[in-house]
Amino acid sequence: MNSLDIFRYTKDDPNEFDINKPKVDESEKNKYLSNLLSHSIKVSEEIFPNIAKSINEIFAKLKLENNFNFFVTADHIEANASCSAMPFSNKPDIVVTSKLVELLTKEELKFVLAHEVAHYYYQHSMYPHHSTAMTRVEKLNLLNLSRAAEISSDRIGFIACNNIQTSLRAMLKLASGLSDKHINFNFSAYLKQLDELESLGENESQLWSSHPNFLVRMKSLMWFEKSKEYNEFANHRQGTLTLSEIDKKIDSLISRLTGNELEVSNQEVYDRALLWASLKMYLVDKKFTKDEQEKFRQRFGEKKTMSTISFLKISNIDIIDQKINEAFMEANLLLKNEKKKLIDELISIGSEIKKSDITIVRYLGNFANQLGDERTISLN
Ligand SMILES: [Zn+2]
Repeated sequence: MNSLDIFRYTKDDPNEFDINKPKVDESEKNKYLSNLLSHSIKVSEEIFPNIAKSINEIFAKLKLENNFNFFVTADHIEANASCSAMPFSNKPDIVVTSKLVELLTKEELKFVLAHEVAHYYYQHSMYPHHSTAMTRVEKLNLLNLSRAAEISSDRIGFIACNNIQTSLRAMLKLASGLSDKHINFNFSAYLKQLDELESLGENESQLWSSHPNFLVRMKSLMWFEKSKEYNEFANHRQGTLTLSEIDKKIDSLISRLTGNELEVSNQEVYDRALLWASLKMYLVDKKFTKDEQEKFRQRFGEKKTMSTISFLKISNIDIIDQKINEAFMEANLLLKNEKKKLIDELISIGSEIKKSDITIVRYLGNFANQLGDERTISLN
């Protein structure tokens, strides 16, 4: 493990998703590179000595090998940098626009370039893109992951340029699009805007965006700079809070702005799968006794129990399988930890019912299977 791994933001967790190694299409890759070589200029010491120097300094600071191609492309409008999303490609490409280079000082540019290097280092481009989501809840989870990836990458940008002021200056310039001559770098004055934004309550546009806004990014980075882990790494001093405490502060800041819609939606999907799968187990003997109804009520509440009972009066038992299939198809798109929790909870319900053990174990095996959980089920 490289030391950079410990700085990854907790919510930027690839283990929560099914990530498949994408196929690298060689002809696509060549097309992309030939396009870059035709329309952009490759950074070299001969042509862009300042940029090349920034790049060398970044890799020295991060103790990483530079196997990247850097390009500058003419764009006077957008101050942008991007990392070509070719995971496992042995030569990733990072492209910066001319406007970005003009806007930033050599040190500020290091923050942005290292942020892009971090996207490659953390393999963010392997994350499923939110545009591929099959349900609304999946899309919200993927957007949340994409925002989390930005927080991690900002940390590496900061470590590479080794100066919090420089990092914040770069962000303020990117947020405003303005150069030094117009800006007085008063960060606390800018961050008052965050208080104002928070006072407006949750905000749809944050929920649906792939990047956190610069207010959140700046605040998150300022907290990171105070962390124990960063301070031990950078200057052998004591920090105030652990990184996991800081990550929790960031989580709560983000959820104050995005609202709790993501948690609520995830919970609904979870509860639906839990309800139908439990019902199936209760009905293993084709009966839903008063005693079982009471247990069901304790778990799912009065309203859901009443509607389940009326549902059973008018429906064929086979419909439950259909309901389970629908609910599990949705639940399969939840985070891995949630899926594991769901199976755990179903196992404990199954143990509680404990009627015809073998059938319930078989049901549980099917539920786990549908969520890609390969554990062996046993009831105790
Ligand atoms: Zn980024």
